[in-house]
Amino acid sequence: MGMTDRLPRSRTLVTNFASKRHRLNILPNSVSESKISTPLQYLKGVGPARAEVLAQMGILQPLDLVTYYPRDWEDRRVRFSVREAPMGEKTALRGTIRSIDFSITRSQLGIATAAMEDRTGRINAVWFKKLNPRYDVFSSLRHHLQIGKSLYVYGSIEWGPGSRSDLPAGRQVRVEDFSVCTDTEATLAGDEQFHFERIVPLYTVPEGLSERFLRSLIGRVLTQGTLQVHNLIPEWLRRKNSWQDRAWALSHIHFPKTLLEKEQAREILAFEEFLALETALARLRLEVKQHPKTHRYTLRRNLLTPFREHLGFEFTAPQKRVIREIFDDLMKPEPMNRLLQGDVGSGKTVVALSAMLLAVENGGQAALMAPTEILAEQHALTFARFLRDLPVRYALISGRQTPGQKKKILDEIAAGHIDLVIGTHALIQKRVRFSRLTLAVIDEQHRFGVEHRTLLREKGGVPDILVMTATPIPRTLALTLYGDLDVSILEGLPPGRSSLATYHVSEEEAYRRIRQAVSTGRQAYVVYPLVSESDKLELKAAVQEATLLKQTVFKDLRVGVLHGQLAAREKETIMDQFRRGTIDVLMATSIIEVGIDVPNATVMTIQHAERFGLSTLHQLRGRVGRGPSPSICLLIADVRSEDAHRRIQIMIETTDGFVLSEKDLELRGPGEVLGPMQHGMPAFKMGHLIRDARLIQQAHQAAEDLLESDPELKNPDHASLRQVILSQYGPKWSFGATG
Ligand code: ADP
Ligand code: MG
Repeated sequence: MGMTDRLPRSRTLVTNFASKRHRLNILPNSVSESKISTPLQYLKGVGPARAEVLAQMGILQPLDLVTYYPRDWEDRRVRFSVREAPMGEKTALRGTIRSIDFSITRSQLGIATAAMEDRTGRINAVWFKKLNPRYDVFSSLRHHLQIGKSLYVYGSIEWGPGSRSDLPAGRQVRVEDFSVCTDTEATLAGDEQFHFERIVPLYTVPEGLSERFLRSLIGRVLTQGTLQVHNLIPEWLRRKNSWQDRAWALSHIHFPKTLLEKEQAREILAFEEFLALETALARLRLEVKQHPKTHRYTLRRNLLTPFREHLGFEFTAPQKRVIREIFDDLMKPEPMNRLLQGDVGSGKTVVALSAMLLAVENGGQAALMAPTEILAEQHALTFARFLRDLPVRYALISGRQTPGQKKKILDEIAAGHIDLVIGTHALIQKRVRFSRLTLAVIDEQHRFGVEHRTLLREKGGVPDILVMTATPIPRTLALTLYGDLDVSILEGLPPGRSSLATYHVSEEEAYRRIRQAVSTGRQAYVVYPLVSESDKLELKAAVQEATLLKQTVFKDLRVGVLHGQLAAREKETIMDQFRRGTIDVLMATSIIEVGIDVPNATVMTIQHAERFGLSTLHQLRGRVGRGPSPSICLLIADVRSEDAHRRIQIMIETTDGFVLSEKDLELRGPGEVLGPMQHGMPAFKMGHLIRDARLIQQAHQAAEDLLESDPELKNPDHASLRQVILSQYGPKWSFGATG
């Protein structure tokens, strides 16, 4: 069976990442490890209870154990003599036990002390334990500690009490882990070799398991030599990168001899994860291209030329470049699947409109789907302006229309009498039928799920798809997140923008500056961003605050209060008034986050700015600085938390969306920034979406090379990779094979 039979389209792939992101195991072990089926329970020291805990961690067999990667590593090589042990640091020491003491403080804390000695001096190893009336908390220590034996300890070096009885004063090591050797030669016997005199792995362990136990178990499985490990990275790729094989990587990720070895192992294991994903995605891109479109475009220019002439401005160079990229795609025989990424205000709408006009020039229909009614209406206004003198029929499907009006529009769309259709999610309803939809555009796609894209696509035969986003992310991340899409990036902003400065101010200062702007004929926003649009209490509090301000501080100004619970008609009335300038101050919850374009508004005030991520703040700020007058963004924020302080500081320092999103990714991680549900962020065990940009890029390229020479992954060297891809993505893909 060829891969084509089993690999369906993108949407389910991404959706599955979303639903399973917390547990997703990119490289399942069941594929490559069929031989070893010894239930873990029968491994030495495990037993049914621990096997059960392991099973709950998803660890069912030996290979699961060794792919349970460390969360960190600790250097427990003995690098210092007792005398050199560095103060205030954690380190491993070795010495001979010279005296042992057990005592109890007045606060009922038990202290065990062992003086240990090497050629350079003595130091106290100390253990603190809360006493328990029912048993001797030190019984095991009493058993192990014996004068004359060799002791390994790991812990932090600190000052001791200084004047205690017969024990040497001065420094002590507060013991976190230790090992007593059965002889005087400091030989680490049996499992003890996994815990000292080496770089040791640290694991996340649930209750019922100790880290030491897990470390020993993994150590034993790795050293037994019974594991069968198949390489996922084909040999030619390993050779090209001088990478060791998978067995080496698995063993050295747990027990590296040096930190460099650990990094080399990590790189291989991270690359595996990226390669599996990138190959699956590359395969999807390939497949989409194998289904030719039923429509063909040629540049007729009977609409495009007048459109450009009536635009009132020149396209910027980046706009010209991305329009060319999109047109190239559109004119190919296979459907376009392209992401247009550009900062807030970068001018994506006219780019999309150009593409839609090409479709219409060629007798097709185009649809533009926006996340909110307000944004859809905003687009309709833009269309009205730019299409004024063109023979293009466009329509908005809106919640404000009466059933009769709506039916009329739907009939006209179905009959092909309307060329361009704008709407919200309403567009994907069953009742909406097109006669020849050839291009579907999705604006602010981070507000939609991948299934929306598919549903819209299904409104046409094999339509071209353009999705747009204002969440600028680094290209490598885009490659992975939107791996089934080609990516165009629209840099910079169109000319004619005013300066935009950001300040962290008090409420009084903010209100003063709002009045100042209004007194010179400008308008202002005051936004109460909501953490959750559906949180009724939060919304109520915001609306109350806004209403109070309207009645007090802004009593003499014309103020509109806009929020998600208002009827569509009310919202539109308020927006209309604001656009026409009959409202000075628009107070709103975050529903204005996307797409509002009122160039006369020059002040954006954000209340409780500390609660929001950089990308939300940036989107909101993008509502101003759209006209010729200088604009300001005022952040009212409680910055007592370190994190809030940093975010506000970054906002003040930069207006570059790419810089901001990179900082945001660093601060909060990709899942938080991009919204896990929409993006279905794949969870990697080893790979890191930001730090491993280079590896992702490499895997992306490798995946393309690999499929170019072997599109069905039939080469035996690619068999493991193929198996992993099919088992990881295959069965789930099949439920959406029609996308
Ligand atoms: P976004 O990328 O955030 O959707 P828009 O498409 O709304 O941005 O564009 C923001 C504003 O910039 C709009 O008013 C648009 O008409 C204007 N604009 C777009 N391209 C240019 C250009 N080349 N020159 C001047 N203004 C432009
Ligand atoms: Mg836009």
